[in-house]
Amino acid sequence: MANPSSSSPQRTVKLYGQPNSPAAYEIRDFLSRSVVEFLWVELTCDEDCQSQLGLPVLSELRLPIVEFPDGHQLFSPTIQEIAQRLGWVSQPKFKEYDLSIYGAGPAGLSAAVYAASEGLRTVLVERQAIGGQAGTSSLIENYMGFPEGISGADLAERARQQAVKFGIEVLLLREGVKARFDNNRIYVDMADGNKMIARANICATGVEYRRLNLPDEGKFLNRGLFYGAGASEAPMCEDEHVYVVGGGNSAGQAAMYFSQYAKQVTMLVRGSNLAASLSDYLIKKITATDNIKVLFNSKVTDLMGESALKQIEITDNKTDTTQQVKTQKLFICIGGLPNTDWAKDTHIIRDKSGYLITGSELLKKGRPPATWTLDREPFYLETSVPGSFAAGDVRRGSVKRVASAVGEGAMAVTFVHKYLGETQ
Ligand SMILES: Cc1cc2nc3c(=O)[nH]c(=O)nc-3n(C[C@H](O)[C@H](O)[C@H](O)COP(=O)(O)OP(=O)(O)OC[C@H]3O[C@@H](n4cnc5c(N)ncnc54)[C@H](O)[C@@H]3O)c2cc1C
Repeated sequence: MANPSSSSPQRTVKLYGQPNSPAAYEIRDFLSRSVVEFLWVELTCDEDCQSQLGLPVLSELRLPIVEFPDGHQLFSPTIQEIAQRLGWVSQPKFKEYDLSIYGAGPAGLSAAVYAASEGLRTVLVERQAIGGQAGTSSLIENYMGFPEGISGADLAERARQQAVKFGIEVLLLREGVKARFDNNRIYVDMADGNKMIARANICATGVEYRRLNLPDEGKFLNRGLFYGAGASEAPMCEDEHVYVVGGGNSAGQAAMYFSQYAKQVTMLVRGSNLAASLSDYLIKKITATDNIKVLFNSKVTDLMGESALKQIEITDNKTDTTQQVKTQKLFICIGGLPNTDWAKDTHIIRDKSGYLITGSELLKKGRPPATWTLDREPFYLETSVPGSFAAGDVRRGSVKRVASAVGEGAMAVTFVHKYLGETQ
């Protein structure tokens, strides 16, 4: 079980809530990505309430309830309150750091391990859960060193422990929202009103799933419609027909994981084959799994239900014909959009989609951008602002894989050393 500020184990947390509760889903997702062992207890009537909690009336409870191993209960808590109770929320220790890293996915975690092990005073800032996208993966099978595969959350937790061992400071549930570069420093406004100052920074803020943008999406969000691979939800999908939208590795992995629990899994793929977007090992597995079906040239065009998702409309891209199918579980795993809003009012150059441009890609006719202030050209992972680096999925042209994100995180630290050497 994870604890961003130490590596001591904890005992099981209990989560009580009603089926199809978006708040309960968010807590399950956070706990599962943070490798906190928990027991989900579904309450559907007053009798459940009485037997589980010794409280008589379900409608009078502020759900969900999180019960910690010491018996303390939080009623309808925010993620922040849960993290606080677990001892994971702390204040920055220093006024200024050598290096601030934004994003604790594979790129940020790898940068944290190398920076801390090499003695840089480093802070790692993460707005959600440790592990980033990788933390939502049920089984990563192609990362070197794990022949049987490893869950993304476990991999991230190992990296976190390693970084903590080397003295990294982790600030969880903090988000950098705006940056300013001045006096060889980066000044970042945090969402909670705090400021973070560092001599160099690595942006490892990755990407997040694009939205379907369907009319009733908000109504069904986390009430049957989920963004991501749903690792925390699979055990609750027994006897269900689960639909997964997407044809990439994240969708393929999700389909494989759900197939172990659900009655049937259908992948809805926009293209006409899997080979263009899915790794060969996953294509072989999916093809060999009886309860996974792939519908090509298809997209979701409507969502239906009362308080929760009950039915979806699927449209065939080629024939424009539609069909309506019953399902209570729809998982969306379609491509990403980079998290770079924080760079909006700076000299950092982004491409049209928002990816950060680095290194030689910044040169026009062999020259750095006009705002570039140094005699040398930008280093390979350096953005258009000296001392500000990008690593992993957020960087234009990066290979969207765990191994490449880890490699770039480590590499970025080497450039940080070079940069800090110049500005001594
Ligand atoms: C379900 C799934 C399965 C996958 N399986 C595989 C696989 O088997 N093999 C493989 O090689 N790759 C896989 N991938 C891809 C791989 O996970 C990504 O390429 C990798 O996670 C990218 O790492 P990253 O650190 O660049 O970014 P991310 O993992 O996206 O992490 C970015 C982090 O930054 C945080 N953040 C964003 N904005 C801010 C901010 N302003 N302030 C603070 N924090 C912020 C986010 O919350 C997030 O935690 C999978 C992806 C998914 C979604």
